[in-house]
Amino acid sequence: MTDDHAVAAAPGPAAPVLAGRRVPMLDRARIYVCGITPYDVTHLGHAATFVWVDALDRVLRLLGVEPEICRNVTDVDDVLDAAASRASAPYDAFAAIQQFHFEQDLASLNVRPPQYEPRAHRYIEHVIRLAQGLMAVGRAYERNGSVYFRGLEAAAEAGLGRAEVLRLAAEYAGRPDDPAKDDPLDAAVWQAAEPGHPAWDSPWGPGRPGWHAECAAMALSAFGVGVDVHAGGNDLRFPHHAYHSAMAEAFTGVSPYARAWFHVGVVTVDGVKMAKSVGNLVLVGDLLADHTPAALRLMILDRPWAQDWDYSAAALDAAAGRLGDLYRAAGRTHEASPHGAAEVRRLLAADLNVPAALEVAIEAGGAPARLLISTLGLG
Ligand SMILES: [Zn+2]
Repeated sequence: MTDDHAVAAAPGPAAPVLAGRRVPMLDRARIYVCGITPYDVTHLGHAATFVWVDALDRVLRLLGVEPEICRNVTDVDDVLDAAASRASAPYDAFAAIQQFHFEQDLASLNVRPPQYEPRAHRYIEHVIRLAQGLMAVGRAYERNGSVYFRGLEAAAEAGLGRAEVLRLAAEYAGRPDDPAKDDPLDAAVWQAAEPGHPAWDSPWGPGRPGWHAECAAMALSAFGVGVDVHAGGNDLRFPHHAYHSAMAEAFTGVSPYARAWFHVGVVTVDGVKMAKSVGNLVLVGDLLADHTPAALRLMILDRPWAQDWDYSAAALDAAAGRLGDLYRAAGRTHEASPHGAAEVRRLLAADLNVPAALEVAIEAGGAPARLLISTLGLG
């Protein structure tokens, strides 16, 4: 029997705004986040992406949604192969050790483990099936033991000029000058075997999966035809996410692959993106030596999530100070406004507006401040 009062009193569906668009959700959300290539230590740039995804998870739970998160491990990757070879270690053992350290760093930042954590090396068969499916619909072709995805459409959809697209393809190991391709914008779904890289058998001879295809195969395997939210660093927008979603859509025939994209801002130091080659990595472990995980989380979260930003020691000290304000506000017994908690909730649902929610929480004190602390994992 239906309880009319209960139905009437039930809140509406969760309808968070992400990237400026309402994304109504009933009670589930499929969230895929591009994980790390485990070849090096965790730096602040990685951490920022995963702390934001963790915050998204927590905010959706506050709204009555139970997200399922799939965060892959790109353990079949040319950069990883090179790092493993420098360390004279097999690629998989090397990756497993790096992955262990990464997970420890994220746990120390109060980032909860994902429900699924597929590792690329266990999805070789899936990538082969993906390649076969793309060939069957005429979106991929075989040359000299490699299978290439026709990338012209994905590149056009990205709205970038051809020169920019080729520059990014080269930067992200897309090998635009590979003479076997029909077009420089085509991307390997399957790469024929080469010395210095692991290889598996396939219908086209020995080889290994391509980066975008690995992620597409893992996402489709975890969630079926698509996802509610696809997350990752802003720097993965092109070519990685563009090709991933184009491959998924071509394979399944279902479009769009993602209802919303959560492209988290890139962290820079003195205006330069963090990279080992530049020598400007800020390591999570070093920051945690003299700051609390909560202060580090608040420094990452107290800003618009999509915006690139510059790290400085002063920013971390300021976040620690702001966190102190929030804790003191949480200890107050009298709230300045009866609507503070509802306002915090509304602001978090509106594109995760943490700066505004923080202001309201500190101003109101009491329950709204405690709600913000628990929702953002700042306890
Ligand atoms: Zn990915």
